[in-house]
Amino acid sequence: MGPNPETTEPPLFQRMPKRIAVVEDEAELASLLDYNLSRHGYEVELFGGSEGTLKKLEAAKPDLILLDVMLPGMDGFELCRGIRRSAVLARTPVLFLTARSDEVDRVLGLEIGGDDYMTKPFSPRELVARVKAHLRREDMEAEPQVLEIGPFRLDRAARRVYQGKRELSLTSTEFNLLEFFITHSGRAYSREQLLESVWGEQRFVTPRTVDVHIRRLREQIEQQPDNPRYLTTVRGFGYRFEEPS
Ligand code: CA
Repeated sequence: MGPNPETTEPPLFQRMPKRIAVVEDEAELASLLDYNLSRHGYEVELFGGSEGTLKKLEAAKPDLILLDVMLPGMDGFELCRGIRRSAVLARTPVLFLTARSDEVDRVLGLEIGGDDYMTKPFSPRELVARVKAHLRREDMEAEPQVLEIGPFRLDRAARRVYQGKRELSLTSTEFNLLEFFITHSGRAYSREQLLESVWGEQRFVTPRTVDVHIRRLREQIEQQPDNPRYLTTVRGFGYRFEEPS
Protein backbone atom coordinates (compact mmCIF):
# COMPACT_ATOMS: atom_id res chain seq x y z
CA MET A 1 0.00 0.00 0.00
CA GLY A 2 1.21 3.48 -0.78
CA PRO A 3 0.54 6.72 1.01
CA ASN A 4 -2.74 8.46 0.41
CA PRO A 5 -1.91 11.21 -2.09
CA GLU A 6 -4.44 13.57 -0.57
CA THR A 7 -3.08 13.56 2.94
CA THR A 8 0.61 12.92 2.43
CA GLU A 9 3.17 15.65 2.22
CA PRO A 10 5.36 16.04 -0.84
CA PRO A 11 8.53 13.92 -1.11
CA LEU A 12 10.38 13.31 2.12
CA PHE A 13 13.91 13.49 0.97
CA GLN A 14 13.63 16.42 -1.40
CA ARG A 15 16.39 14.70 -3.28
CA MET A 16 16.76 14.96 -6.99
CA PRO A 17 15.43 11.82 -8.65
CA LYS A 18 18.22 9.49 -9.69
CA ARG A 19 18.82 9.47 -13.43
CA ILE A 20 19.29 6.26 -15.35
CA ALA A 21 20.67 6.12 -18.88
CA VAL A 22 19.37 3.17 -20.87
CA VAL A 23 21.53 2.30 -23.86
CA GLU A 24 19.50 -0.25 -25.74
CA ASP A 25 18.62 -0.45 -29.42
CA GLU A 26 15.63 -2.78 -29.05
CA ALA A 27 12.80 -0.27 -28.79
CA GLU A 28 10.43 -2.63 -27.05
CA LEU A 29 12.87 -3.53 -24.30
CA ALA A 30 13.95 0.10 -23.95
CA SER A 31 10.39 1.23 -23.39
CA LEU A 32 9.74 -1.61 -20.94
CA LEU A 33 12.78 -0.48 -18.94
CA ASP A 34 11.67 3.12 -19.18
CA TYR A 35 8.21 2.22 -17.89
CA ASN A 36 9.45 0.16 -14.96
CA LEU A 37 12.17 2.51 -13.82
CA SER A 38 9.98 5.60 -14.17
CA ARG A 39 7.33 3.89 -12.12
CA HIS A 40 9.88 3.61 -9.31
CA GLY A 41 10.71 7.28 -9.38
CA TYR A 42 13.78 7.21 -11.60
CA GLU A 43 14.30 9.64 -14.41
CA VAL A 44 15.08 7.66 -17.53
CA GLU A 45 16.86 8.78 -20.65
CA LEU A 46 17.05 6.42 -23.63
CA PHE A 47 20.02 6.15 -25.95
CA GLY A 48 20.03 4.08 -29.12
CA GLY A 49 23.68 3.14 -28.89
CA SER A 50 25.46 4.54 -31.92
CA GLU A 51 28.73 6.36 -32.51
CA GLY A 52 27.80 9.54 -30.66
CA THR A 53 26.44 7.82 -27.56
CA LEU A 54 29.49 8.36 -25.36
CA LYS A 55 29.38 12.11 -25.91
CA LYS A 56 25.65 12.15 -25.19
CA LEU A 57 26.17 10.18 -21.99
CA GLU A 58 28.85 12.60 -20.88
CA ALA A 59 26.44 15.47 -21.42
CA ALA A 60 23.63 13.65 -19.57
CA LYS A 61 25.80 12.66 -16.55
CA PRO A 62 23.49 9.86 -15.41
CA ASP A 63 23.72 8.23 -11.96
CA LEU A 64 23.73 4.75 -13.48
CA ILE A 65 24.01 3.30 -16.97
CA LEU A 66 22.15 0.24 -18.27
CA LEU A 67 24.13 -0.93 -21.23
CA ASP A 68 23.16 -3.45 -23.88
CA VAL A 69 26.06 -5.50 -25.22
CA MET A 70 24.85 -5.84 -28.81
CA LEU A 71 24.43 -2.36 -30.24
CA PRO A 72 24.21 -1.28 -33.85
CA GLY A 73 27.00 1.29 -34.07
CA MET A 74 29.49 -0.14 -31.60
CA ASP A 75 29.44 -2.95 -29.09
CA GLY A 76 28.57 -2.32 -25.46
CA PHE A 77 31.99 -3.47 -24.29
CA GLU A 78 33.67 -0.85 -26.42
CA LEU A 79 31.32 1.80 -25.09
CA CYS A 80 32.01 0.69 -21.52
CA ARG A 81 35.74 1.07 -22.05
CA GLY A 82 35.03 4.60 -23.25
CA ILE A 83 32.89 5.24 -20.16
CA ARG A 84 35.69 4.07 -17.87
CA ARG A 85 38.17 6.35 -19.61
CA SER A 86 35.84 9.35 -19.45
CA ALA A 87 36.61 11.82 -16.69
CA VAL A 88 32.90 12.55 -16.30
CA LEU A 89 31.60 8.98 -16.29
CA ALA A 90 34.45 6.87 -14.95
CA ARG A 91 32.79 6.27 -11.58
CA THR A 92 29.24 5.76 -12.86
CA PRO A 93 27.94 2.24 -12.22
CA VAL A 94 27.44 0.27 -15.44
CA LEU A 95 24.98 -2.61 -15.47
CA PHE A 96 25.19 -4.69 -18.63
CA LEU A 97 22.18 -6.19 -20.35
CA THR A 98 23.34 -9.25 -22.15
CA ALA A 99 21.53 -11.81 -24.27
CA ARG A 100 24.16 -14.50 -23.85
CA SER A 101 25.44 -15.93 -20.63
CA ASP A 102 28.85 -16.58 -22.20
CA GLU A 103 29.39 -12.84 -22.35
CA VAL A 104 29.19 -12.57 -18.59
CA ASP A 105 32.86 -13.26 -17.95
CA ARG A 106 33.80 -10.46 -20.28
CA VAL A 107 31.30 -8.08 -18.70
CA LEU A 108 32.86 -8.46 -15.30
CA GLY A 109 36.36 -8.49 -16.69
CA LEU A 110 38.62 -5.83 -15.27
CA GLU A 111 39.51 -4.60 -18.68
CA ILE A 112 35.94 -3.70 -19.51
CA GLY A 113 34.87 -2.47 -16.12
CA GLY A 114 31.17 -3.36 -15.87
CA ASP A 115 29.75 -3.40 -12.34
CA ASP A 116 27.04 -5.97 -12.88
CA TYR A 117 25.01 -7.68 -15.56
CA MET A 118 21.57 -9.05 -16.25
CA THR A 119 20.99 -11.84 -18.72
CA LYS A 120 18.01 -11.38 -21.01
CA PRO A 121 15.22 -12.10 -20.50
CA PHE A 122 15.11 -10.71 -16.98
CA SER A 123 12.25 -9.62 -14.79
CA PRO A 124 11.73 -5.89 -14.44
CA ARG A 125 11.39 -6.40 -10.69
CA GLU A 126 14.85 -7.95 -10.48
CA LEU A 127 16.29 -5.18 -12.60
CA VAL A 128 14.82 -2.46 -10.41
CA ALA A 129 16.19 -4.21 -7.32
CA ARG A 130 19.70 -4.31 -8.81
CA VAL A 131 19.54 -0.69 -9.89
CA LYS A 132 18.43 0.31 -6.43
CA ALA A 133 21.23 -1.69 -4.80
CA HIS A 134 23.91 -0.10 -6.95
CA LEU A 135 22.62 3.40 -6.36
CA ARG A 136 22.46 2.77 -2.62
CA ARG A 137 26.08 1.67 -2.67
CA GLU A 138 26.97 4.90 -4.41
CA ASP A 139 25.08 6.90 -1.79
CA MET A 140 26.76 5.05 1.04
CA GLU A 141 30.15 5.92 -0.37
CA ALA A 142 29.19 9.55 -0.68
CA GLU A 143 27.53 9.90 2.70
CA PRO A 144 29.25 9.95 6.07
CA GLN A 145 29.55 6.49 7.56
CA VAL A 146 29.29 7.60 11.16
CA LEU A 147 26.41 9.80 12.23
CA GLU A 148 26.34 11.53 15.58
CA ILE A 149 23.49 13.31 17.25
CA GLY A 150 23.23 13.99 20.97
CA PRO A 151 24.35 10.85 22.79
CA PHE A 152 23.83 8.68 19.69
CA ARG A 153 26.55 7.44 17.41
CA LEU A 154 25.46 5.34 14.46
CA ASP A 155 28.03 3.50 12.39
CA ARG A 156 26.47 2.70 9.05
CA ALA A 157 29.18 0.39 7.77
CA ALA A 158 29.26 -1.71 10.92
CA ARG A 159 25.50 -1.29 11.45
CA ARG A 160 26.01 -0.55 15.13
CA VAL A 161 24.51 2.17 17.27
CA TYR A 162 25.80 3.46 20.57
CA GLN A 163 24.01 5.63 23.07
CA GLY A 164 26.80 7.08 25.11
CA LYS A 165 29.03 4.08 25.79
CA ARG A 166 26.25 1.53 25.57
CA GLU A 167 25.72 -0.35 22.35
CA LEU A 168 22.05 -0.70 21.47
CA SER A 169 20.73 -4.07 20.49
CA LEU A 170 18.56 -3.36 17.46
CA THR A 171 16.99 -5.54 14.81
CA SER A 172 17.75 -4.66 11.24
CA THR A 173 14.45 -2.82 10.85
CA GLU A 174 14.96 -0.89 14.08
CA PHE A 175 18.41 0.07 12.89
CA ASN A 176 17.00 1.32 9.57
CA LEU A 177 14.28 3.22 11.38
CA LEU A 178 16.70 4.89 13.77
CA GLU A 179 19.07 5.69 10.91
CA PHE A 180 16.19 7.35 9.08
CA PHE A 181 15.22 9.40 12.13
CA ILE A 182 18.80 10.45 12.81
CA THR A 183 19.29 11.60 9.24
CA HIS A 184 15.93 13.43 9.32
CA SER A 185 15.89 14.71 12.85
CA GLY A 186 13.49 17.46 13.83
CA ARG A 187 10.92 16.61 11.17
CA ALA A 188 7.60 14.89 11.79
CA TYR A 189 6.73 11.84 9.73
CA SER A 190 3.44 10.06 9.32
CA ARG A 191 3.31 6.28 9.61
CA GLU A 192 2.74 6.06 5.86
CA GLN A 193 5.81 8.16 5.16
CA LEU A 194 7.90 6.00 7.46
CA LEU A 195 6.63 2.85 5.78
CA GLU A 196 7.50 4.25 2.39
CA SER A 197 10.97 5.41 3.42
CA VAL A 198 12.11 2.67 5.77
CA TRP A 199 10.24 -0.41 4.63
CA GLY A 200 10.15 0.53 0.97
CA GLU A 201 8.44 -2.03 -1.17
CA GLN A 202 8.10 -4.82 1.32
CA ARG A 203 4.57 -6.01 1.39
CA PHE A 204 2.51 -7.12 4.36
CA VAL A 205 3.42 -4.16 6.47
CA THR A 206 0.79 -1.83 7.83
CA PRO A 207 0.89 1.46 9.73
CA ARG A 208 0.50 -0.66 12.85
CA THR A 209 3.91 -2.22 12.07
CA VAL A 210 5.43 1.21 12.47
CA ASP A 211 3.92 1.59 15.95
CA VAL A 212 5.30 -1.77 17.03
CA HIS A 213 8.83 -0.88 15.93
CA ILE A 214 8.62 2.59 17.42
CA ARG A 215 7.70 1.04 20.73
CA ARG A 216 10.66 -1.35 20.58
CA LEU A 217 12.98 1.44 19.60
CA ARG A 218 11.78 3.53 22.51
CA GLU A 219 12.43 0.65 24.87
CA GLN A 220 16.04 0.76 23.69
CA ILE A 221 16.72 4.47 23.58
CA GLU A 222 14.37 6.08 26.10
CA GLN A 223 14.84 6.08 29.83
CA GLN A 224 11.05 6.15 30.17
CA PRO A 225 9.57 4.58 27.03
CA ASP A 226 6.10 5.82 27.98
CA ASN A 227 7.37 9.36 28.33
CA PRO A 228 9.87 9.63 25.48
CA ARG A 229 12.29 12.51 25.12
CA TYR A 230 13.91 11.73 21.77
CA LEU A 231 11.32 9.85 19.78
CA THR A 232 8.07 11.66 20.40
CA THR A 233 4.55 11.18 19.14
CA VAL A 234 3.13 13.94 17.00
CA ARG A 235 -0.50 13.73 17.90
CA GLY A 236 -2.82 12.91 15.04
CA PHE A 237 0.11 12.65 12.64
CA GLY A 238 3.01 10.37 13.45
CA TYR A 239 6.44 10.62 15.00
CA ARG A 240 9.42 12.91 15.31
CA PHE A 241 12.97 12.29 16.45
CA GLU A 242 15.07 15.10 17.85
CA GLU A 243 17.57 15.92 20.49
CA PRO A 244 15.65 17.54 23.33
CA SER A 245 16.76 21.11 23.97
CA1 CA B 1 20.78 -4.97 -28.78
